[in-house]
Amino acid sequence: MWWGYLPTVSESGSTECLFCKIVSGDIPATVVHRTERVVAFRDIDPKAPTHILVIPTAHLADAAEVATHDPALLGELVAVAADLAAADGISGSGYRLVLNTGRDGGQTVFHAHVHLLGGRPMGWPPG
Ligand code: AMP
Ligand code: ZN
Repeated sequence: MWWGYLPTVSESGSTECLFCKIVSGDIPATVVHRTERVVAFRDIDPKAPTHILVIPTAHLADAAEVATHDPALLGELVAVAADLAAADGISGSGYRLVLNTGRDGGQTVFHAHVHLLGGRPMGWPPG
């Protein structure tokens, strides 16, 4: 039996996904960058003076899935984060990029995102 072209969740987005709803504009956010492939917005519960989430517009569950599906896209997320760090004036002082993955990694939203954190010294090791 031929099923024709069935779009995957990754291509179609997820109607249940919080970050897909931010991409579509159904949920408001303070968007600081938007292209066809990448959106960035300020975290609603910031953990540092600069706390921005950089996400692919495609619904991909985590960074590993981005790397598998579209390696260049992972590079774009990091490049956008670096540009936004410069825009927020924290390139010189430094910043941290965090990609929480899975339960033990502290991931709570299962749409890939890079946290851009800066504007204060970061502790190590992380909690
Ligand atoms: P993680 O725990 O790595 O999955 O990160 C998810 C992040 O999304 C957390 O830092 C939340 O504060 C943030 N977040 C949740 N809901 C929203 C929202 N509506 N707008 C902006 N950031 C959000
Ligand atoms: Zn999503």
